[in-house]
Amino acid sequence: MIKFLDLHKINNRFRAEFQASFSKSLDDSYFILGNNVSNFENEFAAYCGTKFCVGTANGLDALTLILKGYIALGKLKKGDKVIVPGNTFIATVLSVLHAELIPVLVEPNSDTYNISVSTDKSIFVDAKALIMVHLYGQLTDVESFQKIAKDFNLLLIEDAAQAHGARCNLGKAGSLSQAAAFSFYPTKNLGALGDGGAVTTNDAQLLEVLKLLRNYGSHKKYTNKIIGFNSRLDDMQAAFLSVKLKVLDADNAARRSVAKKYLEGINNSKLKLPFYDGSKNHVFHAFVIEVDDRDHFSAFLDRNEIEWLIHYPIPPHQQEALKLFSHFNLPLTEKIHKRIISLPMSPVMRGEDIQTVIDVLNTY
Ligand SMILES: *Cc1c(COP(=O)(O)O)cnc(C)c1O
Repeated sequence: MIKFLDLHKINNRFRAEFQASFSKSLDDSYFILGNNVSNFENEFAAYCGTKFCVGTANGLDALTLILKGYIALGKLKKGDKVIVPGNTFIATVLSVLHAELIPVLVEPNSDTYNISVSTDKSIFVDAKALIMVHLYGQLTDVESFQKIAKDFNLLLIEDAAQAHGARCNLGKAGSLSQAAAFSFYPTKNLGALGDGGAVTTNDAQLLEVLKLLRNYGSHKKYTNKIIGFNSRLDDMQAAFLSVKLKVLDADNAARRSVAKKYLEGINNSKLKLPFYDGSKNHVFHAFVIEVDDRDHFSAFLDRNEIEWLIHYPIPPHQQEALKLFSHFNLPLTEKIHKRIISLPMSPVMRGEDIQTVIDVLNTY
């Protein structure tokens, strides 16, 4: 069986360092917002090229707290419209709803799966913010959306939960907007051994609000300035993340190398391969292809013992939880969700397994 993602193999590389981190934490017994969190925040801000980083409990909270933070700062208000790609992971949409804002779902570009620059500009007129989701690890057309945000006076936010380390000439994911949300869910390119998330930003005012919001609205113990949450990055997870951050660039390079082998080796007109410009703007969180009869194809992969996943089988506006949005007309998003399937992809994939996937797909 060729695994979709071998988490044990990914993390076992760091067993000794994780164990040393754990021992130190047990000795220090400073479990909440300790030095591991502040160290990791400094390292991750430096990595992304931003002034600040604030750890949060997970990626959904990172997104939600950015939006709540801008509400607290008066830059957004309840009921404001926020543009979000219709084919994103549901967390992006949920964050907007949790902040009592209104998501405006738009179609993606059919090659990059990211929000499209050819989106009808009229929807930007009465929107107040736009969330660029760097889906599957590929940066959105940042230059165009930075200009659109400026022209239409939109707050520009990144959902970089799948794009740790992706970079273009304008900078790295996390530094390409006013504030960016990351997830360190175990399967992400930078994954913890549990939940975790972070916001990166250059905005000192937002930083202060986020620090309050994640910690009961408290700036000093038992003194609460605003109505906050409990959404802190776990100190132990922060220590593990510091260990793994050191190899993030190498891991992303390994993912790109798997992708290049797939792109060069797979030659089958029944399969639409992902668009990739060959640069570092893609960190291949997922390698997503399209096929006409997906059930038939996935059964073929099963028979050949190749694991697969679908990112994602149901678009947010068709989820039972979001019945409110079932009137949205997003034909391209719906079509994509019926056709996409993700192939095995990880930084620790063996060359022979990559070749097996290629050979098998070429016989489909
Ligand atoms: C994983 C993910 C999130 C949410 O992260 P969690 O840590 O699971 O809350 C948000 N957006 C996207 C695009 C994701 O892939």
